[in-house]
Amino acid sequence: MTVTTAGELPDSLYDVIVVGAGVVGSAIARELARRRLRTAFVDASDDVGNGTSKANTAILHTGFDAVPGSLEARLVRDGQRRLAAYAAEAGIPVEPIGALLVAWDRTQLDALPALAAKAERNGYHDARLIDADEVRRREPHLGPGALGALDVPGESIICPWTTTLAYATQAVRGGVDLHLNCRVQSITGTTHHELATSRGLLRTRFLVNAAGLYADELDRQLGHDTFTVTPRRGQLIVFDKFARPLVRHILLPVPTALGKGVLVSPTVYGNVMLGPTAEDLDDKQATGSTAEGLALLREQGRRILPELVTEEVTAVYAGLRAATEHDDYQVRAHARQRYITVGGIRSTGLTASMAIAAYVMDLLSDVGLDPGPAHDLEPVRMPNLGEAFPRPWQQAELIAADPAYGTLVCHCERVSLGEIRDALDSTVPPGSLDGLRRRTRARGGRCQGFFCGPAVRSLFEEERR
Ligand SMILES: Cc1cc2nc3c(=O)[nH]c(=O)nc-3n(C[C@H](O)[C@H](O)[C@H](O)COP(=O)(O)OP(=O)(O)OC[C@H]3O[C@@H](n4cnc5c(N)ncnc54)[C@H](O)[C@@H]3O)c2cc1C
Repeated sequence: MTVTTAGELPDSLYDVIVVGAGVVGSAIARELARRRLRTAFVDASDDVGNGTSKANTAILHTGFDAVPGSLEARLVRDGQRRLAAYAAEAGIPVEPIGALLVAWDRTQLDALPALAAKAERNGYHDARLIDADEVRRREPHLGPGALGALDVPGESIICPWTTTLAYATQAVRGGVDLHLNCRVQSITGTTHHELATSRGLLRTRFLVNAAGLYADELDRQLGHDTFTVTPRRGQLIVFDKFARPLVRHILLPVPTALGKGVLVSPTVYGNVMLGPTAEDLDDKQATGSTAEGLALLREQGRRILPELVTEEVTAVYAGLRAATEHDDYQVRAHARQRYITVGGIRSTGLTASMAIAAYVMDLLSDVGLDPGPAHDLEPVRMPNLGEAFPRPWQQAELIAADPAYGTLVCHCERVSLGEIRDALDSTVPPGSLDGLRRRTRARGGRCQGFFCGPAVRSLFEEERR
């Protein structure tokens, strides 16, 4: 098992290198681990899932509203099935709470039948229209004026952090090298690719570009100019756990040309989320929140769920979607170069990740890679971060066997010493306190680390000494 974060890189020739260890690159690396190949996945960051994959709305979509016939529609539908099954096996928290697409005016109400028909064309047959009374019965705290809704019972909430980590863990345990703090700066070579990285040279026969927001720039280095990523910022507000009884479903707006719109959704951690905005920017690092963005969210949230906006806020964050000038994912095979572009994976990449990975395996075969027979991977079982499933502090037998699971370090999120110890000692350990938070929830609660911060930091630093 090899994870490197510093120092020299191996000088041997890899069969495949995947650039990017977000949810998509990690899913591809996991799929490659099933073959007898010498593979690596690399990331510029100090952790997996540290780009767009850490900051989304965490919905496992059915794909009911995708563009029918698009690659995205196909991969979201397939990915939803694959990830739901994988989550059950790997212990990734998923709650199948369903979604209501709420119509607030006549135009939106009139749009619902077309959305139901679109769901049918996308192979999703469980969507149905419900009237205002049923909407109110199903969501008693909804603001006044809802005229009806499209009920989409197959939509779920999921833990995005555990998903990426499960893929990466299984890939590394399956023999794939992971090189972090390893930014690919330029790519040259003819018989094989030579990747100049911030840590030195890497060489590979086949290359997969899963660089998220930077996939277009890598693509241009290889001579392709078919899409440009325009980061589309989504700001979100996370409300405290006291807000959780206010909402039962994912409350979706009727979509507009700019995207899926502002939603209200529970999280698997027991909070309620409001967002995201949709702002086209030209800065790929602009993950800050703005006063205007948050004000807009509050204004929209007030209409959907008036009591929500009076609840306490736990955190705000923003993610950047890899939007392009095209309406679909930009996945392309370049046979002569033994190179696959996995670009434009915009608002549905978490859901589609496993299907994208399977599709990329096919494309790699098309461009000349002989992957050999696939074998089963050793199953992984990830630590549970979800509130709907037993957490360590709730398990008397576990605590009796190892009292560290009964010693709480982060009281807001009820995170034990045992969980922090396990995360620091895991196959893909965190590169930062934020990475540790995504593995345990420590410092992610009401006090945002005000109380547990020093203790968590000292555990983290002790492990790194
Ligand atoms: C606000 C918001 C809400 C969303 N909601 C949902 C949702 O509810 N459900 C859903 O399914 N999807 C959702 N998405 C979409 C989903 O989050 C993305 O599609 C997915 O995370 C993309 O993953 P990725 O691996 O392609 O990109 P990333 O996670 O960005 O990974 C790319 C990685 O490449 C690395 N990298 C870049 N350049 C280089 C280089 N030169 N060298 C080395 N490494 C490099 C980066 O460091 C990064 O880690 C949402 C997105 C946003 C922003």
